[in-house]
Amino acid sequence: MDFSLSDEQRAVRDTFHRFAEREVRPRAQALDEEARFPRDLFRRVGELGFFGMRYPEPEGSGADVISYVLAVEELAWGSLSVAAACSMQSLMGTWFLHRFADGELRERLFAPALRGERIGAICMTEPDAGSDLTAITTRAEQRNGTWRLSGSKTWVTSAPVADFFTVFARTGEKELSFFLVESEAPGLTLGRDIDKLGVRASPTSEVALDDAPATCILGAPGQGLECLREILAEIRLMTAALALGVARAAFEDARVYATERRQFGRPIDQFQAVQAHLAEMAVELEAARRLIHWSAWRSDQGLPNANEAAMAKLFASEAGLRICERAARISASYGYAVEYSFQRYLRDVRFTLIGGGTSEILRINIAKGLS
Ligand SMILES: Cc1cc2nc3c(=O)[nH]c(=O)nc-3n(C[C@H](O)[C@H](O)[C@H](O)COP(=O)(O)OP(=O)(O)OC[C@H]3O[C@@H](n4cnc5c(N)ncnc54)[C@H](O)[C@@H]3O)c2cc1C
Repeated sequence: MDFSLSDEQRAVRDTFHRFAEREVRPRAQALDEEARFPRDLFRRVGELGFFGMRYPEPEGSGADVISYVLAVEELAWGSLSVAAACSMQSLMGTWFLHRFADGELRERLFAPALRGERIGAICMTEPDAGSDLTAITTRAEQRNGTWRLSGSKTWVTSAPVADFFTVFARTGEKELSFFLVESEAPGLTLGRDIDKLGVRASPTSEVALDDAPATCILGAPGQGLECLREILAEIRLMTAALALGVARAAFEDARVYATERRQFGRPIDQFQAVQAHLAEMAVELEAARRLIHWSAWRSDQGLPNANEAAMAKLFASEAGLRICERAARISASYGYAVEYSFQRYLRDVRFTLIGGGTSEILRINIAKGLS
């Protein structure tokens, strides 16, 4: 059993760590306070090749899943907001184009999206359909050779800045399908921006479709859920890596704080109660990392991975919340002040318990997968 990273994997991790350290982390607080999407950083992430990591050459770089989760962790260590927006683009925002787009669309949308010059969003959730996506009511009808979509989508990451949308819609009683709708399509309008508790630099809004023409259907009618299942494990692993990155940032900051903060004549890291917090945080971080890398490794080996990815996501996000909570306890009143990052970590990490399937849904999936 070999737990070491390859030279390539270490190089990917180091590249994204340096980038996050120099360009992302110093701006994370301000971006959160201003709830501002950093388009320039998004482009820089594109220049680093992040958006094409999971796509084969020559369009992407064909990196393995372990390298991908390492990159996601480092970006999330810098800022979960930035990492969430970028990770969405690297998978759900572009995956359906990769899988189904023809030559013209690949050149016009997919290639620039991989460079970070165009932004793709995914519209699945609706006001009355979250965990249960089979309950969506957005409809697609084919008229004169064009698919037209009507319905309301919500919680769409990057919608306010997106150039194109992958939209999940009903094409029959039991038939669900994905469509490409471009931002300038008549009938597509952005709803209100959602003012969020966390990941505030990753913009989110509602999207309304009123007889909006799709550029094309992505896949065959009725193939939607099957397509979604193809990337579900990776979406979950990506979300787990987001949780790991922000939790690691909280842990590292808490350690530094505990050595610098003095009470009763000594640094607080000399008190056993604080040491116990740090120890539990270290154990949970390591356990989350092992689960994520084990699942990523299985994916790279072509082994079944649905349940393992769900386990990694469930554990990493729940552990991430506990770790950020412990960091807040160690930093006490300073952790409660908006000017320090501890409160941001705690707000941000909560996103990882929702996106990619809630913990309740994951437990159901995992239990089913055991039988
Ligand atoms: C920051 C952010 C960004 C997002 N970005 C996107 C995006 O880009 N595109 C997109 O389409 N969506 C996006 N979402 C939406 C996200 O995918 C949904 O929020 C998620 O699927 C959960 O749906 P819901 O919030 O409607 O909760 P619900 O499904 O209403 O669940 C409410 C509660 O009931 C529980 N529950 C539901 N069903 C069951 C069950 N069968 N058994 C036990 N418990 C159950 C849930 O676990 C939860 O605790 C985003 C969400 C957030 C917070």
